[in-house]
Amino acid sequence: MNSIVAIRNLNHSFGKGSLQKTVLSDITLDLNAGEVVILEGPSGGGKTTLLTLIGALRSAQSGSLKILGQELLGAKKQQLMQVRNQIGFIFQAHNLLDCLTAWENVSMSLKLHPKIPKSEYRRRSVETLSAVGLSEFVDVYPKQLSGGQQQRVAIARALVSHPKLVLADEPTAALDSQTGRDVVNVMQSLAKEEGCTVLLVTHDNRILDVADRILHMEDGCCR
Ligand code: ADP
Ligand code: MG
Repeated sequence: MNSIVAIRNLNHSFGKGSLQKTVLSDITLDLNAGEVVILEGPSGGGKTTLLTLIGALRSAQSGSLKILGQELLGAKKQQLMQVRNQIGFIFQAHNLLDCLTAWENVSMSLKLHPKIPKSEYRRRSVETLSAVGLSEFVDVYPKQLSGGQQQRVAIARALVSHPKLVLADEPTAALDSQTGRDVVNVMQSLAKEEGCTVLLVTHDNRILDVADRILHMEDGCCR
């Protein structure tokens, strides 16, 4: 399976009747294994909506949406959850739990994988934190970390289970330019090492060069 994401004629709208608003119009898009693809374009263009559909976080309405080989249109809750559990998510707000240390936060996403024994959690979490340059901060709480370090913990959490697909929605928006650059470099090199597909939504012109391909999204159309 080379196509990690295969979207055909996807439409999406919010609201009903005269208030109905089309947000995605006839999107057709393929993402291949190992690609880093940036999705950019003006606010309100539909980028987050598309990302949440690809991530099985909301239900598709029409067209076809095949993610990791599973058709999401008409899929049952259980199937959506199964797909969701195989995806690494990184959001602008990193949503770390303040009461857990860095490695404990990272290990949270391993709980979605019953085949990984609990005895492996710490080793795997430490390994991924080291990969994002945080080997010295494994036992530290989020409040003791800088914004960039916190975002790197969130990246480690998204990558620790070695997902085939990572979805990142403006992961650098809250960071200064140097920290943002560091964070995307980490994502890019890990993507290349792991051969995973990364779809990265950004407004940030300074990081466009990490992409193998740049898609522009405006008024619900992607090109
Ligand atoms: P982007 O991420 O490119 O800024 P979004 O996907 O967030 O764009 O939003 C696209 C359009 O859909 C916007 O006009 C937004 O107001 C609208 N929208 C997004 N989410 C909802 C929702 N849950 N209900 C109604 N409208 C929404
Ligand atoms: Mg958005």
